[in-house]
This record gives sequence, C-alpha cells and structure tokens, in this order.
Amino acid sequence: MKTFNDELDEVTPAAKAHVAAATPAPTQSPKPQPAAAAAATAAVEEEDDIPTPAGGDGEDLATDFEDEKIYYRHGQLDQCRPEKKGEAVRFSFVPKDWIALQSSKGHFVETPGDDGKVHKLRVRCLTPMTKDADWQFCCKALDKDGEVGVVALVVQYTNVSPETGKYAKLPDGTYPPVQFKIAFVRLSQFNMTQIRKLPDEDSDPFKIDIVMGHSGRAYGYEFTRASNVPRWTLDPEVAAQVKQAAQKFLDGKALIGKLGVKKNEVEWKAFLSGKKIGNESKIENVEEL
Ligand SMILES: [Zn+2]
Repeated sequence: MKTFNDELDEVTPAAKAHVAAATPAPTQSPKPQPAAAAAATAAVEEEDDIPTPAGGDGEDLATDFEDEKIYYRHGQLDQCRPEKKGEAVRFSFVPKDWIALQSSKGHFVETPGDDGKVHKLRVRCLTPMTKDADWQFCCKALDKDGEVGVVALVVQYTNVSPETGKYAKLPDGTYPPVQFKIAFVRLSQFNMTQIRKLPDEDSDPFKIDIVMGHSGRAYGYEFTRASNVPRWTLDPEVAAQVKQAAQKFLDGKALIGKLGVKKNEVEWKAFLSGKKIGNESKIENVEEL
C-alpha cells in the first residue's frame, strides 16, 4: 500500500505545491517566496494541466484587438437547402481545383440534450468506405452500416426566386446582378447519382447551375439544371468576389466538420454507454444540433 509520502515523491513539483497549498503545514515558512506562491495558485486553478513555464516551447500566443484570427469563426458555413416544401435554392459547386467534395460514412445518433429534448448528433463512422469493409464498433453497436455522406462548398445565389430558384427578369428585360454567399450542400449517395445525370455529356456537375427543391416523395430533394454555365462566372467582378469569399473555407476545416463529430473507438464506447440503441433517423431532412 502506498503512503501519502510515496505519492508526494511521484508528483510533479507543481502538484506538490498544490498539495502544500491545500494543507498548509504549521512548520512551513509562513511567508512563501512570490514565485512559489504563483506556482501554487496556478496548480490550484489548473487541476489537470501541468503549467508550462512561460516561453518554454517558443509558442507566440500574443494577440490584440486588431488581430483578425481572434474574430475568425470556422463554423460559419450555412447549409444550402430549401427550408420547406415549395421552396427552392440555386447553387453551383465551387471549382473543384479550389477544394474537392468531402465524404465519409456517418451515424445519426439520438442523444438527450440539456433542454430535455432528444437531439440527433451526426458522428463519423469507423468503418472504411471501401466495399465489403468489416463493420467496426459503431456499426456493430448500432446494428447498421454508416451512411455515406458528401459535403461540398457551393456558391449559393441569394437573389433568386425562392419558389423556383430562378432569376426573374427586371422590368427592362435584363437579369439582376448575381448576389451570393458561400455555403455548403449535404448530399446522400442518391443525391450524387441525381446530380451526376444533370450535365450534358461533354460537361460535368461543376460547370452548371443547379436548383435544389423538395421532391414529391415523402422526403428528400430533387435537383434540376438551371443553366449550362455557372452564372457567377459570367461577370468577372462577381467571379473575383466569389473567389475572395471562398478563400477562408478552402482549408476545408469548416466543411469537413459538417461530416460529423469524429470519435475513436474508445470515445464511441463512452458515447453509446447507457444510451438506448436503435430508432436511428434517416440522415436526410432532419434537424440536428
Ligand atoms: Zn459505423
């Protein structure tokens, strides 16, 4: 059996200071040196962290109010989709030499939220997307293969008709200049096959404008071709704005995050422990966290 003193010998100096601070011994010097006092405070505040000596690893963490990276938020990428039946959105994929479409398998797992409601959390699947890959822990536990999901950066046209996704001519017979935002679309395997069929044989899905609406089926989307050339590419000024706006998403971080939370097997086990399994929702058309 370990004694208290054995443990003291094993812990780091900072943790030792913690212990000393928590149980002041009457024999201790009543007035600790300032440095020692600071170390003790740090240890108390950062229970699990071992304080790094200032400047120890050469990291520069200094910032200021003018520092752009403080205000930069990776998660600010809206989903391009019609919100309800009868609505349509229009988009074109950003050129694929800017950033590729991203894909992974995922599970949609119900999880109780702090508000007492059940939320659905998208979690990346551990089973590879290769054909006939052996099911990994998540698929076995949920008794369901992960669903293939694809996400892509798009130029979403924000001044089209919300019913048709098309541009309406102005009274003078011309079309209004393009307004847009960079967003992302989430596509199922089925959506990919739908979109693949849209372009002419000598074209490809990156070279057209697409309108996305709700399908006549119970759920899911339908896609139609709105133009044989992405409208935003026609005006060099707009094209330059699109390129500029897309820039901060081209590292893929925000986009890849849309594929779901990444968990390893240990994290999956912890996540599913005590959870009622089953009743998984279809990934399409479900509100999520
Ligand atoms: Zn899985």
